[in-house]
Amino acid sequence: MAGMLEGKTALITGAGRGIGRATALLFAAEGARVAVADQMAEGAAETVALINKAGGQALAITADVTKPGDVASMVSAAVSAFGRLDCAFNNAGIAGYQVGGAGKKTADWPEDAFDRMIAVNLKGVWLCMRAELEQMQKQGGGAIVNTASIAGLFGIPTSSAYVASKHGVVGLTRTAALEYAENGIRVNAVCPGFIETDMTKDTMARRGAQIMAGIPVKRMGMPQHIAEMVCWLCSDRAAYVTGSTHTVDGAYTAA
Ligand code: NAP
Repeated sequence: MAGMLEGKTALITGAGRGIGRATALLFAAEGARVAVADQMAEGAAETVALINKAGGQALAITADVTKPGDVASMVSAAVSAFGRLDCAFNNAGIAGYQVGGAGKKTADWPEDAFDRMIAVNLKGVWLCMRAELEQMQKQGGGAIVNTASIAGLFGIPTSSAYVASKHGVVGLTRTAALEYAENGIRVNAVCPGFIETDMTKDTMARRGAQIMAGIPVKRMGMPQHIAEMVCWLCSDRAAYVTGSTHTVDGAYTAA
């Protein structure tokens, strides 16, 4: 049986580890040729090696999503290699502890930490979408998935910049879906709950027991759980799905 993404080409940011890597591996297993982008060349190269070992086709690209020049080169490298861009997963992101914002209430966030969070998690997604939408309009369609978060759906004490960035991603997603529906471009967001990656190690170490008590299925999600949703959203099976947010959170937000 043909894979869900057979014959498609894809670009994934933040694909050097975590959710991005798991998604790159699944996309390749489902038949896509994958441009694996990350700011660290080593991470991207490792993901490509894993894909190649499994018999898939991939290309490593080094790009910082906060740099417009990097983003433009990233999209053109993917298109030069594969001829077109059918699917894009804008997933690169950072957490509060990575910018010195962990544990800080709204008025206590350092300004540079707030700026950096918005630059990576929100403006980075917009810069990627801008370049991808240009290409997808030229070729007559495509599917974009942005990584938001359950933090894009409600407030979380001491996470204001992260929460604001992810609410922004949801807003960008909905707006672009409206604007580019007539171009055959679908735009959706995935909203992961608590997923076992490097990003959640710090939070789980600080308040893991409290978080676990709030997850109805009583376990963290795995990166593969997000990858499955993104793969479906990028596939033709989701042809009528656009402009929506898709939680994958073990019922955390169901209550
Ligand atoms: P992760 O393991 O820390 O992976 C994040 C990836 O993004 C890393 O490969 C990182 O590169 C890359 N990255 C960071 N800044 C970048 C930049 N400026 N340019 C290019 N790449 C950059 O985290 P993850 O858990 O997989 O997170 C992936 C996405 O899911 C993020 O958007 C995150 O906010 C979102 N999310 C995660 C969870 C969760 O529970 N894990 C929940 C909700 C949403 P380096 O390796 O070089 O740092």
